[in-house]
Order: sequence, then C-alpha cells, then structure tokens
Amino acid sequence: MTSSATRVETVGSATGHSIADGSMRADSAWAGYANIVDGPGGYGGVEPTEEWAAEIKRLARQRGATLLAHNYQLPAIQDVADYVGDSLALSRMAAEVPEDEIVFCGVHFMAETAKILSPSKTVLIPDQRAGCSLADSITADQLREWKADFPHAIVVSYVNTTAEIKALTDICCTSSNAVEVVESIDPNRDILFLPDQFLGAHVKRVTKRDNLHIWAGECHVHAGINGDELAEKSRSHPDAELYVHPECGCATSALYLAGEGFVAPDKVKILSTGGMLDAARQTGAKQVLVATEIGMLHQLRRAAPDVDFQAVNDRASCGYMKMITPAALLRCLVEGKDEVHVDLETAHVASKSVQRMIEIGTPGGGE
Ligand code: SF4
Repeated sequence: MTSSATRVETVGSATGHSIADGSMRADSAWAGYANIVDGPGGYGGVEPTEEWAAEIKRLARQRGATLLAHNYQLPAIQDVADYVGDSLALSRMAAEVPEDEIVFCGVHFMAETAKILSPSKTVLIPDQRAGCSLADSITADQLREWKADFPHAIVVSYVNTTAEIKALTDICCTSSNAVEVVESIDPNRDILFLPDQFLGAHVKRVTKRDNLHIWAGECHVHAGINGDELAEKSRSHPDAELYVHPECGCATSALYLAGEGFVAPDKVKILSTGGMLDAARQTGAKQVLVATEIGMLHQLRRAAPDVDFQAVNDRASCGYMKMITPAALLRCLVEGKDEVHVDLETAHVASKSVQRMIEIGTPGGGE
C-alpha cells in the first residue's frame, strides 16, 4: 500500500461486474436516483444521507468497484470511499487493488493518471467535466512549440497535467520531489518546468539554476492564499503552527511565500499529506493554521479532533473538486459513467515519465 492513501473501509473483493444484462448499468431501485438533476455546478438533487451512503456501498459491491477519493473531496464523498489520499498515492493504489473497476473521485487529470498506471482497468470519474485550471494552463501544442525553442532541454512536469502533456514530458515531479528531480539533471542542460509558476519559482530559488525556464501557469485557487493574508493570519494567531501542503497546486504559492519570509520559518511545517496527518496526531499545539485546499481539513479533524484546525483562507476551495457530488457518484455507479479513456500509446509513453520520477526519489503523493 502506498503511504499517503488512507484505507477507510473495505467493500468486498469481487472482481468483474455482477450486472445481469452485461451492460455497464447497475440496478438501483433507490428513489434518490430519480431526483438527479444536471445543473450548472454539476449533478445535484441528492443529499448525502445514510441511505445514500448505504446505496453507494451496495452499488460499488455490485459492480466490483473500488472507490478512491482525493483529500479535497466533499466530506461525504471521503467518508464513503474505500481509500482517501493524494493523486499519485491513489493512482498507485488503483494499480494495486484486485478490483478491475476504479471509481476515481477527483479531477480529470487524476483519473487519467490512474488509467495511465492501470491501462487494463476500467476507470470511471463521476463527472468528467471536473477539470483543473492548472492542468489546463498548457496545451500539448503549446508545449510542442516551447520544446521547439529549446530542442535540447529536458521537460519536467508537475503531476497536475493531462496524459497528453505527460507523454511529451521527460520526467514528472511532485512538489515533494521537484527539487530532487531537477538536481538529478545535468547542470548544463536547459530545463522546461511546467505548468506551475509558483512551484517553478520555489525550485529555481532552491537549486539556483539559471537555465530553468518556467511556464506561467497557475491554479485559480492560488489567488485565495496570498502573502499578506498568510502573514496576517500568522500574526493574529501567534501560538498556532502553520502547515503548508506542498503536494497541492493551491499551496505552492504558500510554499513560495514561506520561503520569501512572509511567515516566521520556525512555525512553518511543509508537509505531505501523510506527514500532515502524522504531525496533526502528534502536535502539542492547540491551534493549527492550514494553507491548502479546505477539503484537507476534514481528514485533519478526523485525525486529531482536539486540535483547532483553521484554513488560512476558507475560500480556498476547488470548484472542480466539488463537482463530484453525491448525485454524481450515484449516477456514476448506476450508469457506469463517465469512463476515462487514454489511448494505449499515450498511456505507455506517459507512464515512462511517471516511472522516471519514481526511480529518482520519493515522489510523495502529488496534489
Ligand atoms: S485546487 Fe487547483 S490545482 Fe488542484 S485540482 Fe483544483 S484547480 Fe487543479
């Protein structure tokens, strides 16, 4: 088991689908299914009641599916999942579990990464419209053009990228190992680093490489965590610790700002998902400020119910992540939709860039 995924509950070990007519559709006579509506924010009309949770687990068992949920998912989705974790840990978990069907509650590039690492499995995402502004900040054509300007450069991509971008990448990285990955590359080679400008700036500062070229991409949730706010929150809570989650597109700005001296360095703990949960269980602090997407607070509060965890900015919420609603998950399990497709050649080439990262060092978990 990869370290950053938390086993929440086991739902059977069936393989294959137990669906009578051989279609992807599962049987649900539950009344809530008829209430699903497709609105501007995604699928709605279903409340996460105990009946809903029981129906989700029954359908997952019926399909022989494993439910994976990212840390930024709604609490009800996290609570019903078999495993909760960060994107890379969950993708590796998808490859390890015996079930042939994976339901990935996260954003699209994460489900794609699971498909890349498990090409023979069926990977479903409850709403394929759940994108990522960071992954969308560079297209394959833009990367091809950039590479043409630097034909001898090594391409290093943060894992928040599409399968197509990963297939054009030499080495992937997470924010935990980005410095290590860059330091493993010949100092005389140009590096194209993408898509996150904050992570790129952090890596450039640490490695002091002038030949690191940074793509100007960012996550829209970044805007919610700025230097003044981080400094002010820290000043007004002088006894609180500050956890910054580097494996998070929305906290790479916090990582950068902590390094720029906006916050007293002795109070800042830069922690992966697993490290953050361990630190939460062991902390002597009564209050902890958390610079990450607010979904992570649910896991922290479960791990250490006596600690007062507060978001640095409680508006730092990813709307794409929250498109995986109770209604979307119900629809997914009844209808077998939306299936994630990555063509075999792209998956094969893309998996090499992920594999190279794993060979270089401890990857952490990705966002
Ligand atoms: S928080 Fe930002 S980087 Fe993470 S999935 Fe949402 S848009 Fe993408």
